[in-house]
Amino acid sequence: HEDANKPRRVLLKLSGEAFGGGKVGIDTTVIRRIAQEIHAAVAQGVQVAIVVGGGNFFRGAELQQAGIERTRGDYMGMLGTVMNCLALQDFLEQEGQATRVQTAITMGQVAEPYIPLKAIRHLEKGRVVIFGAGAGMPYFSTDTVSIQRSLEIHCDAVLMGKNGVDCVYTADPRRDPTAKPFKTLSYKRALVDNLAVMDAAALSMARDNDQHILVFGLEQKGNVTKALLGQPIGTLVSN
Ligand code: UDP
Repeated sequence: HEDANKPRRVLLKLSGEAFGGGKVGIDTTVIRRIAQEIHAAVAQGVQVAIVVGGGNFFRGAELQQAGIERTRGDYMGMLGTVMNCLALQDFLEQEGQATRVQTAITMGQVAEPYIPLKAIRHLEKGRVVIFGAGAGMPYFSTDTVSIQRSLEIHCDAVLMGKNGVDCVYTADPRRDPTAKPFKTLSYKRALVDNLAVMDAAALSMARDNDQHILVFGLEQKGNVTKALLGQPIGTLVSN
């Protein structure tokens, strides 16, 4: 995927769970640390685009359980991702890192609309581009959007930052002491064994287009920078 003459360009997926520190709302300590680690990698020449989840605010499927119509709940979920985008933008700007937020639902006062060629231009200028509001469509997930955006703006890899684990295992290591870690993993095995990489729709889009995915732990200090720089951590999912 990587050409030695081209700067490394990656798409970092941050789940809402990471932003909330396990609660509803945002954990500013976590977001500030992630912002510092992103800035450190950009300073070394890596082009960084980010897709932010929104599970720390709302998930459409959960709101549906509570009696809200599914698609309206999904829009609430998408709006939640935008609050996470603005929080991350703020901490990045505090580090002196130039940023742009682009949303899939137009909201001109807080963000640019999603314009892929413009996003690429921002990246080339050393700005971090943060994508909000998912795909702008109900029934999609921010995991699927990560793969789609990464393909459209030509990223070398999608980096999936996870909470609670440092890579993909044969089973959940928090429940099964015999679980074994993977250094590398095929899309097919991840799909067939239903391993915790991303949802199946996202994973099959990655497989069909050979989009490499790195799954790594967000909580260990320095890991975000390492993942962005392409250092060997986590599990690499490819063909
Ligand atoms: N969502 C959606 N379409 C999208 C992206 C997100 O409808 O393209 C909604 C969906 O309800 C989802 C919520 O936004 O549950 C939050 O996104 P996600 O669950 O992917 O966030 P994460 O799990 O990464 O925090």
